[in-house]
Amino acid sequence: MKTFFNGEDFDERFRYDGKDLGVRCTEEGTVFKVWSPFAQKIELRLYRNDGEEACVIKEMEPEDKGVWKQAFTENLHGMYYDYLVHIEEKKLRTADPYATGCNCNGRKSMVVDLKRTDPEGFREDKAPAAEKEQIIYELHIKDFSYDKESGIPEIYRGKYKAFTVQGTNGKYPTCMDYLKELGITHVHLLPFFDYGSVDEAGSDGQYNWGYDPLNYNVPEGSYATDVSDGTVRIRECKEMVQALHKNGIRVVMDVVYNHTYSEDSWLQRMVPGYYYRHREDGSLSDGSACGNDIAAGRAMVDNYIVDSVMYWAKEYHIDGFRFDLMGLLTVELMNRIRRELNAEFGEGEKLLYGEPWRADTSPMEDGTSAALKENTESLDDGIGIFSDDTRDVIKGHVFDEKEPGFVNGGSGLEALLLFAVTGWRDGGTCFMPKSCAQIINYVSAHDNFTLWDKLVYSMHEKPEFEKKYEDVLSANKLAAFIYFTCQGNLFMQAGEEFGRTKWGEGNSYNSLPEINMLKWSQSVEYKELVEYYKGLIRLRKKLPGLCDKSASASTRITEKKIYKSGVVSFRVDNRSASEEGVEELLVIYNADSEDYPFRLPEGRWAVLVDAEAADLRRVLHTEEKEVVVAAHSGMMLALIE
Ligand code: CA
Repeated sequence: MKTFFNGEDFDERFRYDGKDLGVRCTEEGTVFKVWSPFAQKIELRLYRNDGEEACVIKEMEPEDKGVWKQAFTENLHGMYYDYLVHIEEKKLRTADPYATGCNCNGRKSMVVDLKRTDPEGFREDKAPAAEKEQIIYELHIKDFSYDKESGIPEIYRGKYKAFTVQGTNGKYPTCMDYLKELGITHVHLLPFFDYGSVDEAGSDGQYNWGYDPLNYNVPEGSYATDVSDGTVRIRECKEMVQALHKNGIRVVMDVVYNHTYSEDSWLQRMVPGYYYRHREDGSLSDGSACGNDIAAGRAMVDNYIVDSVMYWAKEYHIDGFRFDLMGLLTVELMNRIRRELNAEFGEGEKLLYGEPWRADTSPMEDGTSAALKENTESLDDGIGIFSDDTRDVIKGHVFDEKEPGFVNGGSGLEALLLFAVTGWRDGGTCFMPKSCAQIINYVSAHDNFTLWDKLVYSMHEKPEFEKKYEDVLSANKLAAFIYFTCQGNLFMQAGEEFGRTKWGEGNSYNSLPEINMLKWSQSVEYKELVEYYKGLIRLRKKLPGLCDKSASASTRITEKKIYKSGVVSFRVDNRSASEEGVEELLVIYNADSEDYPFRLPEGRWAVLVDAEAADLRRVLHTEEKEVVVAAHSGMMLALIE
């Protein structure tokens, strides 16, 4: 699609690569800068205490490339502001798309001297050392602590501050104590930039996942303890990151640069028509199914997204980014983000992954390609994609609740499943990842049914979601065992390890918090399942043959065999140049309804995982030449002699 906005002429005249858009506020003074190439005039309006009447109105001064500037010698920290953009006979009031602070509900921007928002010790805050594996835990801030049983003080429940509390309910570990014990390496937080769907001045019973961006560079206010002062959300969000780091956990931010809450956004008001894609007939494209698509691929759109990512990484010490509907962004942009993060923070230090799909087609800019699964080969190998192929082969289709996968009664999936084990590096699907580093293995996320609900739906005619079905528990364990024995990165929805249910609801984005929240008593009720996951997490970090992310990792998987419907095995070359340990592993999946007697290859073996527990070391007698792999279970063995 050829537009006036895309191309050398436009870029020559208006592309601005300065890193100073927005407000810079320090002891030396305060500088306001915006990019608005078609404005005739822009007025900056300053407000004291978020008042209605501006106390200062100043005209911005035009500079090169469509940039406008106004500077003050004073430090204006704490003042609120907006702009009046005069454009084609219209006057558009807008907040600053580059704002780093805002008022309650984000309609006005706030001048912030960012240093003043740092919690104590924040400048010294560092991410914990990288571990051998990425085990990512997907969590919504409100879900984490909304349950009274969390033990979090009421004023912090559902807020950023809940992450700073330890000790919790006094009976069993919840919240941060629980996360630490679980052993995950990354918490991936659902959107916490400022979003529009929740009234920040309204009731605490409101709920939204937050995929509706309003102010990209400001934390969401409804997770702060006080929204009347725009600095509180900033400080408390930093405290959350700091607390996770202190507890050895890295932080991934879910980012939604593919669309905005409404097309009538600050971006649109600042430069009408520029930031969104349109179809040939002039209508807005809707590849996001959220009403609009951001026009990634245009110079200043890409600059905006890169600047925003870099801002969160630098200012909030965010360790990774998950891109919502990455298929609406471009390969070129994603690769650029990868390069810039590597240059600033070191190769691979920040994690990058996204959804390699979109809800519908979208008119892309000439010369760009969509960051879709089919283009994985063009993406940098430091960019991961959610593997819907792995997810679906294990548990069945996400929309059809009855359709089974390998663990819940599906048939004919054995060969496909064995392709999933190498992260699809040896074929089996329509794309070829460069290495398993590009693959995110998972079986549940916030979208669609929880794993528990999907299994209950597909395994029981009359589903009762709160019933502790033994067969569902087994299938859940087997599903977990399978993706934990696939090469690639690991990702799980919070609570998957304790049978999290939303009572069969497949799209709970604005359902009650009680439906969405983690119900902490389940971590006790389903203790056996939690312990199994903990074992898998501990074990995985010790297995270089499965953690290997190199392009040759797939050659470690050998002797893939199918024995009968539902029973497969493979061996893993587990040698490592840097670590002592088991040299060879044997993995068996038995989804069949009968126990499977498995004849062991030569050598002496120890069971590392069985139907009951993970991370064991049950050494078999030399004369034991056969193991019984229980129905609906997985087994891992290590060759020890
Ligand atoms: Ca908000």
